[in-house]
Amino acid sequence: MAAQKSTVKAQPQPFPCPDCRGGQVLEPFQVGGRKKHVSNARQEALCLTCLGTGEAPTD
Ligand SMILES: [Zn+2]
Repeated sequence: MAAQKSTVKAQPQPFPCPDCRGGQVLEPFQVGGRKKHVSNARQEALCLTCLGTGEAPTD
């Protein structure tokens, strides 16, 4: 008796966006007008690659 092959269809897993975590990116926060100084502070910003979905665009 042949073991029945389980044909569980794998759900298409969305690729996580390579540019962010969960749709949020941490951008260096620029301070100072004359000297472009990048501080250690980071601000969260919406990822423009996936538009905040956290999944890589598939198109
Ligand atoms: Zn993203």
